[in-house]
Formats: sequence, C-alpha cells, structure tokens
Amino acid sequence: MADDIYDVIVIGAGPGGYVAAIRATQLGLKTACVEKSGLGGTCLNIGCIPSKALLESSQIYHQAMSTLSRHGVIAKEVSLDLPAMMARKSEIVKRMTGGIRGLFRKNKVTHLQGLGHLAGEGVVEVTDGKDAGSHRAKHIVIATGSVPVELPNLPFDGEFIVSSTEALTFDVVPEKLVVIGGGAIGLELGSVWDRLGSEVSVLELMPQIVPGMDSELAGQLQKSLEHQGISFCLESKADTAEVKDGHVHITLSEKGGERHSEVCDRLLVAVGRRANVEGLGAREAGVDVDERGRIVVDHAYKTSVEGVYAIGDVISGPMLAHKAEEEGVAVVELIAGKAGHVNYDAVPGVVYTHPELASVGLTEEQAREKFGEVKIGRFPFMANGRAHSLEDTEGMVKMIADAKTDRVLGVHILGGRASEMLSEAVLAMEFSSSAEDIARTMHAHPTLPEAMKEAAMAIDNAAIHI
Ligand SMILES: Cc1cc2nc3c(=O)[nH]c(=O)nc-3n(C[C@H](O)[C@H](O)[C@H](O)COP(=O)(O)OP(=O)(O)OC[C@H]3O[C@@H](n4cnc5c(N)ncnc54)[C@H](O)[C@@H]3O)c2cc1C
Repeated sequence: MADDIYDVIVIGAGPGGYVAAIRATQLGLKTACVEKSGLGGTCLNIGCIPSKALLESSQIYHQAMSTLSRHGVIAKEVSLDLPAMMARKSEIVKRMTGGIRGLFRKNKVTHLQGLGHLAGEGVVEVTDGKDAGSHRAKHIVIATGSVPVELPNLPFDGEFIVSSTEALTFDVVPEKLVVIGGGAIGLELGSVWDRLGSEVSVLELMPQIVPGMDSELAGQLQKSLEHQGISFCLESKADTAEVKDGHVHITLSEKGGERHSEVCDRLLVAVGRRANVEGLGAREAGVDVDERGRIVVDHAYKTSVEGVYAIGDVISGPMLAHKAEEEGVAVVELIAGKAGHVNYDAVPGVVYTHPELASVGLTEEQAREKFGEVKIGRFPFMANGRAHSLEDTEGMVKMIADAKTDRVLGVHILGGRASEMLSEAVLAMEFSSSAEDIARTMHAHPTLPEAMKEAAMAIDNAAIHI
C-alpha cells in the first residue's frame, strides 16, 4: 500500500476527470488521476477532437471542389490525400493529449497509469499499468465515461461493422457507407465520408434526425444533407447484417414493416453510447447503477457509497464533453466545501455538420408544452451581410421566448458557423435574459451574431432586415 493519502483520486482522465483533477489541485487538494488509456479520454482521442479535425479537412476538400470557384478562386486538379488528412488528425490528437500531460505537471496532478478499481473504503487499486498498486484517498471521483452501444444483431467486427472509433480511421474512402443512427455522431461521420466521396445512407429509428432537437431545424438540416448527397431512411431499423466477400449485406425494416436489403462496404453503427463501469468494481463496492447501467448520484454527485462520487458520461444527462467538464469542476468544488453547481437548463449541444445545428434550452415543442403560449423569432442567414460574404447563407436563428415574460426559453441555430454563435444564447439563458435584452444589445457589423439580435427583435415583430 502506497503511503500517500490523496484528498481526491479521480478515475478516468476524459474531460470530466482531467478537469476535476486540475480544479481539485487549484483548490489545494492533493490529487491523483488514474487513466488506463490516453489522457483526454474519448473526447480528445476518439471523439470530439479527431471528428472535428476530419470534418474541417473534408469540408475544405468539398469547398475546393465546389464553392471556391464562386469566390473567383480556381483550384485546379484538386485531389484527396487521405493518409495526410489522417496524419493531420492524429497530430492534433497528439498535441492536445500532450497538452493535458503538461497541465497535469503544471498543476501537480499525479497521473497514475493503469486500470483503477474500487477496492474498499477510500482505496483505489490500480492494475495493468506502470502505477499498479493500492492508493488511498479521502474522496474518489468516478469519471470513467462511456463506450459505443453495440447492437446484438449487428455486432462490431472492427473492420466492416464498426463504431465511431474505426470510422475515424478508415484507410480508404468506402464506396458505400450505411450509418445506423441519425444522431450527432452518425451525421458528423456520415458527412465526413460523404464529402470525401462515399455514397452515404443514414437509417434512423425515429421520425426525425437528431431526435430531441428542434424538429423544424432538424427537418431543414435533413434537406440540406440530402442536397449534399446523403440519403435518409427514417422510422426504419436494421435487422441483420452479414459480411460476405468484403461487403456488408444488411436487411432493413421500414415503417409499416416493409423489408428490403442493402449492400455496403462499411456499416457504421452509431446508435448512442452507454455508461462505462467495466473493470471498475462499482457494483461490488455497493455503488448503485440504474437500469441503463449509469451510476446513480444525488445533486452533489454523491453515489450510494460514502466518499465516492461520479460525473460525466457515466452518470445520467447528455453525453457531452462540456457537461462532463462542468460536473468535474462542480464535484471538486463541493468536496472542497464550495458551492459547485451546474445549470442543466442551459446545456449547449451542437451537430457539426454543414450547416451546423446548435441548440440550447427548450425546443419549440417542449416550450409550448411547458409554457403554453410562446413567441418565436426567426431570422434567416440569407438576410445577413456577413453570411453572404462567407458564401454561407443557409439556415436561420430561431429564438423562443415566454409570451408572458419575454424570457428566452431556447435558441436553435442552423448555419455554417452556428457553434461559434451559440455561446451568446447560452449566456443569455444563464442570465435569465429576455429577448428584448438581446434585441437591445449592440452587435458588431457585419457579423453572423447580428442574426441572433434580429431573431430576438423578430420576437416583437421588430426585425429590421427582413
Ligand atoms: C465520435 C464522437 C464525437 C464526439 N463529439 C463531441 C462533440 O463534438 N462535443 C461534445 O461535447 N461531445 C462529443 N462527444 C462526446 C464526448 O466525447 C463525451 O461526452 C466525453 O468525452 C465524456 O467525458 P467523460 O470524461 O465523462 O468520459 P470519457 O471521455 O469517456 O473519459 C473516460 C476515461 O476514463 C478511462 N477509464 C475508464 N474506466 C477506467 C478505469 N477503470 N480506470 C482507469 N481509467 C478508466 C477511459 O480510458 C477514458 O479515458 C463525442 C463522442 C464521440 C464518440
């Protein structure tokens, strides 16, 4: 047993865990972070960062083949160097994960390499790594994240029937790619390979893509992606998949029970992620998990075991890096006796397709159900000067406010740079702002956020440029 007693041991160094560990040392807590694989977790190694790197590269390739000429830029003989594109992605991952190592050093977080599991009161046993051994802590934070959901009828084989992890590393562009799941991950990776030349079909069980997001804008996003060449099959499911002669043969059931088959080179199953408690010894230690395998916590992230907390993808709530980070900060602030808090009414969410769909707060449907009368302001990028200069006029800002109080209840943006515009809406919601507050705030011209101001003005039928 190591002599050191830590104030906090965090298990998992994803955005939840590494942020918790750094914040804990800032608060004067002696902290270690156990990681079995790469620092930065899913997000930096096989999630947010590599996917955005490929989205950016593939969009540039697509633009070089299409819209660049509208700027008067003629790119002759554009061709794809997929190994170079993948190498750039890997280099970014290396740089970012190296950054976490540096942050750990700077903040004096002890990095324990290996698989951590709960081994009795205040003890974390580390195995399978260079820091194997027992480590004691007053508080243990579980931040072990999530793994892709595998469908029993379409098991992953790592080559033909794959999860997002392998779809980030294909070494050739598949001629035909079928994506099961029209959520953020399926649409983002579908977009990457569509832009690089694959024929992409997306199959979604629900009647709309990106289920849970505002249906009006989700419908517009679908049309836009269809225009880019992606085909959609909604209210459908894949029944079986068999790999024969290097191709995947899939049988599908459409709405109404009609069945048909498809053949593709690669099948990406992106139907969601599940909490990861493998090898953690959570159940054996008495940590309660719910029916979906997520660790159950109270408002202070306490599990059913005294001194053990959990945050991020391994607990309930949206599986997003920034949600995990906020919880990482909140949990250690609470441990340190401060008032850590996360506002779950203002969790932003972005689908990084082109156009992007960025969203915070209630959808129109949810707002009407909860508040009855609501006011909606819409402003299209077609009426925004900067969008024209960027040659990117698709989409709109849609703002939803309470009809009685004018308080902003939700903002949904479909547009080329929607992700970069969303923070204004998140801040507005965080400050319980009214639509009029945004409408009367001066916005620099010409900028895309002027569309946010005009959508707020449109709530009161006072938009100027439409
Ligand atoms: C393709 C893809 C794209 C995504 N894009 C986005 C995006 O654009 N924006 C966004 O917000 N989110 C995105 N996500 C989701 C995001 O990656 C996760 O929500 C986020 O990483 C969750 O953080 P976490 O810290 O809870 O867990 P994770 O990042 O999953 O980290 C958990 C860590 O714990 C380690 N671990 C697990 N068990 C043990 C153990 N017993 N001992 C030691 N270590 C252990 C794992 O190795 C891992 O490193 C994406 C995910 C994927 C797959």
